[in-house]
Amino acid sequence: MGRCPNCGQGKLFKGFLQVAPVCQACGYDLSRADSGDGPAIFVIMIAGFLMAFGALFSLFAFHWPAWLALAFWLPMTVVVCLGLLRPMKGLLVAAQFTHKASQAGRHDV
Ligand SMILES: [Zn+2]
Repeated sequence: MGRCPNCGQGKLFKGFLQVAPVCQACGYDLSRADSGDGPAIFVIMIAGFLMAFGALFSLFAFHWPAWLALAFWLPMTVVVCLGLLRPMKGLLVAAQFTHKASQAGRHDV
């Protein structure tokens, strides 16, 4: 949901994908929550599967010409990847928080 994992109120993101340094609502230190390349690999796996399947399916089941498949699925891939990145990053930051990963900046670990 893009909310602070500590209080659920403040915003997690500052900008599109950058995690805010501190929560505006509770002052929680979010700066050490770093999901690194984690979100990207999930987006690659999920979007890659969906897009490759969709492209092949439209080619073989509906006999789309190659130019139509490219014109439809390439922009679709960009949209789906951008759409998945932010929720996926939020999910991984929340998972770090929940499972007390040391990088997530909890003080009680
Ligand atoms: Zn907070």
